[in-house]
Amino acid sequence: MAKGRGSARKVSCEDCFFSRNLLCALPDDEPCATFRPAHPDGLRPPRQLRFQFRQERRTQAVWAFPTAQEQAALHT
Ligand code: SF4
Repeated sequence: MAKGRGSARKVSCEDCFFSRNLLCALPDDEPCATFRPAHPDGLRPPRQLRFQFRQERRTQAVWAFPTAQEQAALHT
């Protein structure tokens, strides 16, 4: 699962895919917003959130007023 921003570790341009493949044209040695981790499989897109289907919605209310017949049965 993808980690949140709170657990972000310090990255450097040496760890960047673009730097390792001589594709970076930026003059600074500071990591920029296009940083992508260098991986043996190459450039990979960021992991997508998992899609989860909702359970089927309830078709009946959890609680309903008693019918007139049920009220009559209660008070007779
Ligand atoms: S793309 Fe950004 S993070 Fe990657 S090497 Fe270049 S400056 Fe650094």
